[in-house]
This record gives sequence, C-alpha cells and structure tokens, in this order.
Amino acid sequence: MTFSIHGLPVSRGIAIGRAVLVASSRVDVVHYFIDADQVTAEIVRVRNGRNAVIEELQRLQAEMPPDAPHELAALLDVHLMLLQDEALVSGVKHWITQRLYNAEWALTTQLEIISRQFDEMEDEYLRERKADLEQVVDRILRHMKGVAASPVAAPPVAARRQPAQDLLLDDKVDVPLVLVAHDLSPADMLHFKRSVFAGFVTDVGGKTSHTAIVARSMDIPAVVGARAASQLVRQDDWVIIDGDAGVVIVDPSPIILAEYGFRQRQGSLERERLSRLRHTPAVTLDGQAIELLANIEQPADAAAAVRAGAAGVGLFRSEFMFMDRSGPLPDEEAQYLAYREAVEGMQGLPVTLRTIDVGADKPLDKSHKDTHLNPALGLRAIRWSLADPAMFRTQLRAVLRAAAHGPVNLLFPMLAHVSEIRQTLAQVELARAELDASGTPYGPVQLGAMIEVPAAALIVRSFLQYFDFLSIGTNDLIQYTLAIDRVDEAVAHLYDPLHPAVLRLVADVIAAGHAQGKSVCVCGETAGDVAMTRLLLGLGLRSFSMHPAQILAVKQEVLRADTRKLAVWAEQVLASDDPAAMLQAAG
Ligand code: PEP
Ligand code: MG
Repeated sequence: MTFSIHGLPVSRGIAIGRAVLVASSRVDVVHYFIDADQVTAEIVRVRNGRNAVIEELQRLQAEMPPDAPHELAALLDVHLMLLQDEALVSGVKHWITQRLYNAEWALTTQLEIISRQFDEMEDEYLRERKADLEQVVDRILRHMKGVAASPVAAPPVAARRQPAQDLLLDDKVDVPLVLVAHDLSPADMLHFKRSVFAGFVTDVGGKTSHTAIVARSMDIPAVVGARAASQLVRQDDWVIIDGDAGVVIVDPSPIILAEYGFRQRQGSLERERLSRLRHTPAVTLDGQAIELLANIEQPADAAAAVRAGAAGVGLFRSEFMFMDRSGPLPDEEAQYLAYREAVEGMQGLPVTLRTIDVGADKPLDKSHKDTHLNPALGLRAIRWSLADPAMFRTQLRAVLRAAAHGPVNLLFPMLAHVSEIRQTLAQVELARAELDASGTPYGPVQLGAMIEVPAAALIVRSFLQYFDFLSIGTNDLIQYTLAIDRVDEAVAHLYDPLHPAVLRLVADVIAAGHAQGKSVCVCGETAGDVAMTRLLLGLGLRSFSMHPAQILAVKQEVLRADTRKLAVWAEQVLASDDPAAMLQAAG
C-alpha cells in the first residue's frame, strides 16, 4: 500500500529505486560494497565468525557446573539454535552474493529482517527471542571485528554493473538503489560517494548537517529528518525520493510512478539546458563579474569542479581526508600529496584549503562518540587544531608545500578571539620556519578567516587587520546566531538563513571587507541556494562558493541580475522584519 513520509529536502531531484536499508542500531558497523571476486572470502568471514561463536557457546555448555540454573542452559540452547537458523545463514549469503554487501552489513541487514518477523509474532515468548538473536549477531560481529577487512570505497557504477559471472543472477542488481538509514555519518557518506545509490533518506539530520552536505555534493536527491523512515521502509521496497519537496513515497502505485517518472525526465532536460551555460562568463546585466567557486571534500572532486566551470575551489573541507581512519592521521607527506593533487587538478585555478574542522557532527572516527554535552560549542575546528600544535603544523607545512604547485589560499575555521588569530598566525610562521630549516620548498599563500561565529562578524574589522580575505560560513553562522543545532531535525524549522539578525551580520561583513578592498566569499549552503542569489548580490557579494552541481543554476540567476537595482531592494529587505515575505513577493 502506498504511503508517504515527510522530511527535509536537502538535495534536489527525483530518485526512484529499491530501498537498501542500513541497519540503524549498529552505527559502529561498517557498510561498503565488495568486489565480485571477494564474495567467497566475505562469506567465509561470516562463517568463521559464526563458527567461533558456536564453539564458544558449546564450550560454555560443556563447562557449565551441574548446579547452574536451568534457565542458563536453556538460553544457551536457544542461542545455538538461532545461530544455526537457516534464515540467518541463507539471508546473509543472499545479501553478500546478490548485493555485494560486506559481511557485517549483510549480517545486520538480515538481522533487521528477522527481527521484524519476530516483532509480528503473536506468541510473547517467541517475540522476546528477538533480543537473543541480537545478542548472537553482536557476538558474531565482535568475533569478526578482529579479522575484518578494511573498508574500501564503493566501486563505481560501471564496475558494479559488470556481470560478475554467475553470482549476480538476481536482476534486481540492475535497478536503481536508494539508501535508507537512521543516520549516516559523513564518513559513511564518503564510502558511498562513488557508489550506485540514486538517492538517500535518513531519519535524522538537518539541512546543513554534514551528511546532507555530502549528499548534495553527490548531486543525488536526498531527504533527511524523515523521522521513522528506516522503520517504515523495508528492504527492497520501491521508493520515490522527492528531493525538492522532502517527501519519500513508499510502494507507489503505477499512476504515482508515472507522474514522478515524468518529473524525473523534466529534471534531466532542465539540467541539459543549464549545461549550455558552462562556458558563459558569470557577469550580471550591469557588467559585474561574479566569482563562482566550488566546495570540495576530496582531491578527486577537483575534476567535477573544473567540469562545472568553477573559477576555483572556494572551500576544500580538508577534514574529510582525516575522517574514518583507523591508525594515525595522514603524515605531512601524505597530506602534501593530496593537497598537491587538488591544486594540480584545478589546472592553475586557485584552491582555498581550509584547515581541519573536526568535532560536532564530523567526528574523526565514527566509533568514537563525542560525549561532550554540547559538541557544537566544544573543541572543534580551529580550537581543536590549536589544542594540538604539532598536528596543526603538520597540516600547515603540507599546505605550504602544495602551494609551490599552484595558487593556494589558506582558510581557518571558526575563529572568534583575536588571541586565536594571533596563535594561528604564529603557527603559520613557525611552519614556514620549519620548512626553511629543512630546506623544503614551499609557495606563497593568501590567509583567510571564516566568519562563522557572531562574535567574529561583530569584530570583523579586527579580523581584517590580520587577513587577506574572509569567507562567511553561513551554515555555522546561522547555527550560532539563532542557537539552532544544524544537525537536529526537531528545530530545523527555526533554522532560517533569512532571519534579519543573520542578514545583518552577513551584510556588515561584506561591507566591512569591501571597504578595505578585501575579498569576501560566502561558502555556506546559502551560496548555492538560487533563492538567495539575488539577495546576496544585492548585499554586495561578488564571490560564491558551493557544490559544483549548483554552479550553473546560480550562474543563470547571475546572468539575469542587475546589481544596481538589487542593491536598492536589498537595503529594503535588510530593514524589514519579514525578509522572507519580501523575497516571496519579488518572486
Ligand atoms: C559553514 O559553516 O557554512 C561552512 C562552510 O563550514 P562547514 O559547513 O564545513 O561547517
Ligand atoms: Mg562551518
């Protein structure tokens, strides 16, 4: 029966496909696709894990003292029986061979399916066996952890679509797949980045959570904050994701499918039309040249930025290279090579490299949960870097070295205090001195500060004494100005880029920067929102950084704009206590 679930639209377009559920309860389980030639090894990994647990339980049984409670023996029997259950064994095998899930993912997927069957049982005793099943699966997972293969990036579509001998007999492999999960960490998203998924749905998350940002960078329809989606959707259900409206339609009727199929085709035609603007210079009707830059997460993204006609990279979120790693952070050489790859990939166009911004919704290691009460107000971004100067300087040296290969700007996240600015700049000096001492070549960099905290916006003139350029991180600036957790869907309705206080801060920063002849960019999600383009132009913004997929749509707005008229209108919007209504009235 058709039903729909409402969430927040985070990445536009329509996706139609079968649901792939990522088990929610076990966030520490890695999810990735294996290559077809790894199927047997993966099945063996689960089998070995299961056999180890069986042996463990049998040993416990054998060693049980005669006076042990009868219930304990019965419980061990039940666990042993569950472990040998055909539905578990054959189900896991199915997900590995037919869908190429890694062993842990296959195991938790099958657990979820059997759990639901338990939930539907009339008999209370049987219903309660679900907890036992979860325990045995946990035991298997723990046994497998020691011998787990390291996660690999999901294979590209082409590789996955290759017929893998007779393993992929199931024709379902060739239908589009959409991912449904309770939550996905940004690191999970990176694994899936070059995968087959046509769309995403998560139960939690806000519009500018980093999971949503990565979804947007993949340019596939996505809905977050869809509350119980991962409970209501079942493995393999047909699902429509409407990324424009933030709606997920489950088990659609043929009429609904036809309607959305039509809208999907309209969307592709619109994109095709926009692609003709790729080589058109971004100049307004009154002759103002506008810089349209790309936000990237990995060096390999540079290619998409160039393809989209970006004038450079306005924000390289370097922390994504540090996330989800087991073992130490990448050393100076590894970082240097990665930054150099991005710089060379941009073919002479500038790259703005932001130093590591971990913390809050970007944990370094997803198994390490941030236990601080308010992680967004805690040790994140520049605070984290300054707390570990040796690590910070490793990154700075790597960036300075990469700057020998092309134009590089160095950008610092979340500064709020002048003392932080001084410490940061002292570390840059020290990093240069270290490179000088070792005779290592490096290049010049422009230094920039992100304006992400209201305090920084309010003392922007002090910032301008120290920096060559500014970049407004509206995602955080909105979060901190309005005291709205950007990740929390419960307060997402209050997250408002058009709040007069936010607009006032943005306008003041742009004006202060320009008054001193310094460049000001907006690199938060508002820069890529076509509904905001005219207002930002009217406020004087001339540099926008966004996901490559949004560049052409924003360029279309730029080409239609007259900044002289927009400046007058923007003044009125700024003075209004209901800017949203004014934007709506302007159409
Ligand atoms: C921002 O806060 O607007 C920004 C660009 O940084 P991030 O989204 O990575 O926090
Ligand atoms: Mg930020």
